[in-house]
Amino acid sequence: MIGYDRRMKTLLIRNAQCVATLDSQGLELANASILIRGHVIEAIGPAADLPATADEVIDARGHLVTPGLVNTHHHMYQSLTRAIPAVQNAELFGWLRGLYPIWAGLTPEMVQVSTQVAMAELLMSGCTTSSDHLYIYPDSAQGRVRLDDSIEAAQAIGMRFVATRGSMSVGQSQGGLPPDSVVEREDFILKDTQRLIETWHDSRHGAMVNVAVAPCSPFSVSRDLMRESALLARSFAGQNVRLHTHLAENDHDIAYSREKFNCTPAQYAQELGWLGDDVWHAHCVKLDDEGISLFAATRTGVAHCPCSNMRLASGIAPVRRMLDAGVPVGLGVDGSASNDAAHMVNEARQALLLARLRKSLEAPGVNAQGQPVFGCDTAPLEMTARDALRLATRGGAEVLGRSDIGHLAVGMCADMALFDLRTLAFAGGAVHDPVASLMLCASPPAAYTVVNGRVVVRQGQLATLEMQTLIERHNRLAVTLAEAAR
Ligand code: ZN
Repeated sequence: MIGYDRRMKTLLIRNAQCVATLDSQGLELANASILIRGHVIEAIGPAADLPATADEVIDARGHLVTPGLVNTHHHMYQSLTRAIPAVQNAELFGWLRGLYPIWAGLTPEMVQVSTQVAMAELLMSGCTTSSDHLYIYPDSAQGRVRLDDSIEAAQAIGMRFVATRGSMSVGQSQGGLPPDSVVEREDFILKDTQRLIETWHDSRHGAMVNVAVAPCSPFSVSRDLMRESALLARSFAGQNVRLHTHLAENDHDIAYSREKFNCTPAQYAQELGWLGDDVWHAHCVKLDDEGISLFAATRTGVAHCPCSNMRLASGIAPVRRMLDAGVPVGLGVDGSASNDAAHMVNEARQALLLARLRKSLEAPGVNAQGQPVFGCDTAPLEMTARDALRLATRGGAEVLGRSDIGHLAVGMCADMALFDLRTLAFAGGAVHDPVASLMLCASPPAAYTVVNGRVVVRQGQLATLEMQTLIERHNRLAVTLAEAAR
């Protein structure tokens, strides 16, 4: 609900050097203020036109304000297995086979603590909304892992959360990739998913928790489960219960699809009812032209994960082609074990750099005769700094089906990040162009992160949890998890 209740507390972001609204006109305001009442932006504009006081005031002189960044794909539990030596140099399928036996030892406490570590890292980088794809639910003496563990962790740290109920049901004995010990029964998966939607999903303006339905990938669940999952999500018509999975991540993924299903991943998605404006797929590195057309025609979204795609040598997603065709695209840091640094500003920077690399590989600076071409390329670059920031904010909001986040305007959720332009990363850049500097210079930490009107990061410190205790507890659990698999 949009709250203009006059009794609600006010927060004033005062005298920002620059506010990049990311609205449909791309409006950028100099010396501007933002007044927040409760959870919502009440006013935004030149500092002189807004009140000078409020219940709480943040002096934003020398700061750039952007919408809170939106992360559309993650596996937060993987923070426990960052930089694991055995799979440091593996590509996707080998990497998964090496990690499944370790992840089989996850406990509810590990999920809760690793989710908070992953969220702390995202919040400190200016990210205010994140999705998480939890697809492994081991049962042990410490209890059975549930998606509720990560939802409760999000509530404690104060992050806007799109929790997805992942699943794996086809083990090795059935031709799938994961060991049989980590797969679940399909009837239980569907029943538990329905319970989670009914318990936690909120479809209202300003919702802090959404639940999505997310079988892990075509190579770890059956056709039936993909179909039944789509039917389940769509039985909640009009409530923005979305569908999410991994698709077309690398060449092995394509080969698996051709061999097992005799079609491309995009054709497989179409056959199963997994195209539509209520669906978003992670990666899509190997989406072909037909796939891009299918996605565009159906407004199916893509979570582009540039760092993970480089880490696992999966390839370079055709993001410019997707955007030109009209495919909604957001960014994802992906799981912490395939992108060991979950910094959303850096993810946008890498998206920008990788798009330009792809262009140079597709169209090197030579003419048809193979002679070098100098200084006559007037075509716009593959991706500008502002395009990249747009993917990380508005793009992500669109992919998650949220019209109340992703840009700054009156009536929008009060989700924003402040970056201190007087710091080293911006030296010599912000004086020319603060917005482009955020994307091009060394990715800075957020000075303040505001989620739903609440200051969650203040002066570069997490304000909702004691960080050092959290890190120490997380490190102990990471060692326990790795040792249990030996
Ligand atoms: Zn993933």
